[in-house]
Amino acid sequence: MPKDMNTVSIFERRESEARSYCRGMPATFATARGSEITDDTGKTYIDFLAGCSSLNYGHNDPDMKAALIEHISHDGIAHGLDLHTNTKAAFLEAFEEHILEPRGMDHRVMFTGPTGANAVEAAMKIARKVTGRTNIIAFTNGFHGVTSGALSATGNSYHRGGAGTSLNGVTRMPFDGFFPGETDTAEFLDAMLKDKSGGVDAPAAILLETVQGEGGLNAASPEWVKRIAELAKEHGALLIIDDIQAGCGRCGTFFSFEKMGVTPDIVTMAKSVSGFGLPMAMLLVRPEFDIFGPAEHNGTFRGNTHAFVTAKVAVEKFWADDAFEKELAEKSQLIHDALADLAAMVPGAYLKGRGLMQGVDVGSGDLAGDICSRAYENGLIIETSGSEDQVIKVLAPLTTPKDTLRKGFKILLAAAEDVLSTTTKIAAE
Ligand SMILES: *Cc1c(COP(=O)(O)O)cnc(C)c1O
Repeated sequence: MPKDMNTVSIFERRESEARSYCRGMPATFATARGSEITDDTGKTYIDFLAGCSSLNYGHNDPDMKAALIEHISHDGIAHGLDLHTNTKAAFLEAFEEHILEPRGMDHRVMFTGPTGANAVEAAMKIARKVTGRTNIIAFTNGFHGVTSGALSATGNSYHRGGAGTSLNGVTRMPFDGFFPGETDTAEFLDAMLKDKSGGVDAPAAILLETVQGEGGLNAASPEWVKRIAELAKEHGALLIIDDIQAGCGRCGTFFSFEKMGVTPDIVTMAKSVSGFGLPMAMLLVRPEFDIFGPAEHNGTFRGNTHAFVTAKVAVEKFWADDAFEKELAEKSQLIHDALADLAAMVPGAYLKGRGLMQGVDVGSGDLAGDICSRAYENGLIIETSGSEDQVIKVLAPLTTPKDTLRKGFKILLAAAEDVLSTTTKIAAE
């Protein structure tokens, strides 16, 4: 074996340069429980990233884990294509009873391949098939995945640059609050669609996140979302809400759009839908738009049987009554208050997002990155988002005990203080 084989880690030696999060957080992680994750040296970190909102119920929830172990030890189905299985039935029944029916939603559930991007692809295809139109309206700072269909709807130029082909069929419009001041971007969209010389082809769908997760925690106002829903209807387009990151309780309610008075034609879900961090994606579609033929949107892994087991537990454990929602309201306030303290430390900084999807725009990607790196050294895992990575973003598991939230924020604020005092010292020299 060449000498440097021993000193260069297996990751640097063999894992593709496409790896990302591990560069800023190079520990080798070994175990995790709840809101804490431990590396192979025994150092424990508080997790304010939660698999980018794929672990909303924390790591290794004991009830989900027990159900999964039980399923496996009894030789339950591990892979079933899209055959009927008892686990799929149990999940669908729980989802119908605790999520869809109480919210008056008549949507059908379509399982896609297990990534969010695959659900977005399916949603875009359905809208195009239903309307016979090609154009889809998506918004500035929207993130919808990186396969080419979903990527065409994604705004980020770094990700778009990786396509290696032209990305067509999407018209970009300004999201709520994109322009400073009072510009109503919903009225702007309406004017562009109405004017016969607006140059925007009639849309098959309008696709949006109510809170833009990767795009910097821009939260659309309920009035704006409602107006966009009306515009979709007026202009004969389907309304697709991408709830992959903002859903599953992240905004304080199961869906991010609850209490906004809108019923999306299609909702895409992934990330935390399995509850356990297992790959699973699906879309909810109004029955009249459920028009794909059998296997027209195909996939070997449509529905992950192990994920059905844990997703059912998640729905029953957290969403059968409103106790969890009440807890989330209190935690949202705690997060808001702690982040207000952080924002007060940085001139010009301000709060972003809502619910348990909040952060602080500190005005500079370098500063946000430095604060997150310092926090990591001191035992807190936290990431940035936004067009310049300038937003420090808190995505703690929704189940994080308040004491652990406070501990995490203590590390974060100390890190900010540290970084700010060194930068002012350097500036003064
Ligand atoms: C993460 C994400 C996606 C893509 O999901 P993948 O599983 O990474 O393909 C799509 N939309 C939103 C809003 C997301 O946050």
